[in-house]
Amino acid sequence: MRIILVGPPASGKGTQAKVLCEKFAIPQISTGDMLREAKAKGTKLGKEAAEYMSAGKLVPDSVVIGLIDERLKQDDTKGGFLLDGFPRTVPQADALGKLMADKDIALDAVVQIDVARELLVERAVLRRTDKRTGQIYHLKYNPPPPEAELEHRADDREETVNKRLDQYESMTAALLPYYEGKGLLRRVNGVGKPAEITQRILAVLGKG
Ligand code: AMP
Repeated sequence: MRIILVGPPASGKGTQAKVLCEKFAIPQISTGDMLREAKAKGTKLGKEAAEYMSAGKLVPDSVVIGLIDERLKQDDTKGGFLLDGFPRTVPQADALGKLMADKDIALDAVVQIDVARELLVERAVLRRTDKRTGQIYHLKYNPPPPEAELEHRADDREETVNKRLDQYESMTAALLPYYEGKGLLRRVNGVGKPAEITQRILAVLGKG
């Protein structure tokens, strides 16, 4: 299974990515995580990327394409993978298409988790993560157990969420029609319980 998972901030993308990767035994490839790791290690690439990331800008296409190129050479991607946060631009999507064609592999689907903007703001503002386990909770819909050590992501505050949603909308404006044109786009209603949404995703992947 080779899929791209697309969804706005607080759409439940992180939760679904985990479940899908476990189910299909495939790695989750997140350029955001890879860049944060490079930044933490203080590599040359990490330092360059950090400037863009802290300014809330996209890292240059050549940088992230290079990262994905290297990552797809690793053995654990042979049985498939789930891309998260990549591609974000049409040139990245084109480069991914070329990389995959060279390996004689193809995407199965681009799954978009669809949630109305008003709901996303409420979700993000009430979202909390347990520092110890990484488990994500929602103060209203999925309350954490008393022993959880809760953390509110700095970028989940309302004004930042609105900015991130604007960015998401301008990013997907070109990317989703690109994949729709290739017949790969599958839209999934992202409102409901996490397990219901997983079922919807599996159904559009023909694995329901
Ligand atoms: P994320 O965790 O996916 O939200 O990514 C965090 C930051 O890393 C983004 O705001 C960008 O600065 C950078 N980044 C991650 N993935 C990409 C990508 N595919 N293209 C460009 N920049 C990216």
